[in-house]
Amino acid sequence: MERTLVIIKPGAVQRGLIGEVISRFEKKGLKLVAMKMYSMTKEKCAEHYAHLLDRPFYPEVEASMMRGPVVLCCWEGFEAVEVVRSMTGVTNSRKAAPGTIRGDFGMSGQENIIHTSDSPENAVVELDRFFSKEDYFPHDNNNLDFLYAGHER
Ligand code: ADP
Repeated sequence: MERTLVIIKPGAVQRGLIGEVISRFEKKGLKLVAMKMYSMTKEKCAEHYAHLLDRPFYPEVEASMMRGPVVLCCWEGFEAVEVVRSMTGVTNSRKAAPGTIRGDFGMSGQENIIHTSDSPENAVVELDRFFSKEDYFPHDNNNLDFLYAGHER
């Protein structure tokens, strides 16, 4: 089973969307195996958004990610990275398809509700960035027989 990182951004925490976001992934059938509130630091933010450091809007992204607490979640499931990414929608919330999280809850390119890992390789690196071994609570999910076909489990 694959794991992926979701960061519920400070704006979504402020807007009371934590439950909405978690509920969507839960109802989809993904399994929550780690979750914690966290205050983003300058250092972690720079590591996490290293690909944006030289972009003119990076200072705004950093300020936005440090405006308040975030919620870090690790979701597990078959092809979880791709599933979560498609439920997230494209970066600009105004262009994100209705039915996606960004498409349903956002109006901004920057204030776009959540971060989600964009590849299985990056998911491993990102999860290691924010979670340690003790943070994980793997557990049996009795619904697996109903959620997946045999070859997907
Ligand atoms: P995504 O979050 O969809 O994977 P990126 O990794 O490209 O997108 O960007 C990381 C975050 O930086 C975005 O989620 C958004 O908050 C912010 N961002 C990206 N592009 C812009 C932009 N052109 N202007 C302002 N903020 C941006």
